[in-house]
Amino acid sequence: MADTSGRDTSGPDTYDIVVIGGGPGGYAAALYAAGAGLSVAVVEKDKVGGTCLHRGCIPAKQFLETASVFRTVAGAKEFGVNAEQPTIDFAVSQARKQKVVAQLWKGLQSLMKSRKITTVIGTGSLGPGHLVQVDDGAGNITELTGRHVILASGSAVRTLPGFEIDGRFVLTSDEVLALDRLPGSAVVVGGGAIGCEFASMMSDLGTQVTLLEALPRLLPGCDADVAEVVARSFKRRGIDVHTGIPVHGHQPGEGQTTVRFGDDESVTVDVVVVSVGRRPLSDGLLKDGTAVELDQRGFVAVDGLMRTAEDGVYAVGDVVNTPQLAHVGFAEAVVAVQDILGEDPIPVDYANVPWAIYCHPEVAFAGVSEQAARDAGRDVVVSKHRFASSSRAMIVGETEGLVKVIAEKMPDGRAGKLLGVHMAGPWVTEQLAEGWLAVNWEATPDDMAPFIHPHPTLSETFGEAVLTLTGRGLHG
Ligand code: FAD
Repeated sequence: MADTSGRDTSGPDTYDIVVIGGGPGGYAAALYAAGAGLSVAVVEKDKVGGTCLHRGCIPAKQFLETASVFRTVAGAKEFGVNAEQPTIDFAVSQARKQKVVAQLWKGLQSLMKSRKITTVIGTGSLGPGHLVQVDDGAGNITELTGRHVILASGSAVRTLPGFEIDGRFVLTSDEVLALDRLPGSAVVVGGGAIGCEFASMMSDLGTQVTLLEALPRLLPGCDADVAEVVARSFKRRGIDVHTGIPVHGHQPGEGQTTVRFGDDESVTVDVVVVSVGRRPLSDGLLKDGTAVELDQRGFVAVDGLMRTAEDGVYAVGDVVNTPQLAHVGFAEAVVAVQDILGEDPIPVDYANVPWAIYCHPEVAFAGVSEQAARDAGRDVVVSKHRFASSSRAMIVGETEGLVKVIAEKMPDGRAGKLLGVHMAGPWVTEQLAEGWLAVNWEATPDDMAPFIHPHPTLSETFGEAVLTLTGRGLHG
């Protein structure tokens, strides 16, 4: 078999690192290691870039951007701009998505090539002695040996009993992101980050959406005030939101399917979009004789430095039981490679990872929520400022949402270090940066108060929320 550098790889080549999986975790490990001068091979069964580039972050955000443009045009009249009532040609948006993805994919492949990373296309599995066998699906097996091996095989969609994925009535994110036309009506099962992004995007583009979440509220991992902003906005925009209810199954009929939920409720729609989390892709990854351990759900067990139970074998990204986010995969990859380099890395601080959710209104946060802090018995002070009083928010016409800052309460009652920053509203996925930095830096409101924010910007709302915690807020 030939690798991407054209070399014959029929013999068992040895690399400093063999990475199985070329998604964000795997390619970040490869790029970082190659940048540090190590020889690296990446085994990828599909396309480098993984879920994030081909079936996740990038495609989803591209469609959400289409929804944003649609809303802007639909609301143009308020600004004195007379555009016709917009209509959606989703096939054009699909083509644009493919163009964006193709461009990024090409860039990634060039970058890997320029760092002299060998890419071997095929399904990899790890055996004893760090031997990785790669099956190209056409009867050819290549063997590679890594002085170290990094498992980065990622995750795959999953569904619920009663909702078999058929690509016709029951879709997952994989199928939705490949559509050329949006359905007229849909049930989205699951009100987490991905479910809310899909519900928001489809509703903005004309699909009648019913959103079903088993837990008592949408975005269960988020601060309650932030989740409430999203729930209110969804309801105002016509999304039929049901929380705290079980979903029982669906019954296909003539062209539509009926979903049963709650005590005795049902809704008949064109499609069901199941968005209930992802499962680790570890089936067939390990051959007998490796000491690598999987937990009951199939995640690869690792320590804080991403080491598995087998010496010299690491695992990063969605295949380990940590937040399933591309940037977490990047960070874990760096930790693993630094450990391989003997550089004494700092483990990823999962409690303070930044989260960005691109539904409308957007959500972004880092650190502990108010409820989680109180549940943990921490004494906290909280400051909330709404975008409704932000001049820039009024100018851009997006006044929904708030910034909420949670700080430790000092014995004298003053606010100590920031524990959490939670935002919902316009462009908060871009605005979170200073909040995320402050939480990770363990900054106090007094540390931050002297730093000024430009006026008029949306970022002033965070500045005000922090200033209020010093006891001397300017505007509230
Ligand atoms: P993956 O990206 O899944 O990559 C794993 C790679 O390994 C794949 O290319 C696969 O083909 C390959 N592979 C698997 N098994 C083998 C094998 N045995 N041999 C060879 N190759 C193998 N995260 C964010 O941070 N921000 C977002 O906005 C965001 N939005 C998302 C939206 C959607 C709809 C989805 C589904 C996910 C989203 N995510 C987002 C999550 C993000 O995509 C994942 O956290 C990220 O892709 C995980 O990276 P990974 O490298 O661990 O795994």
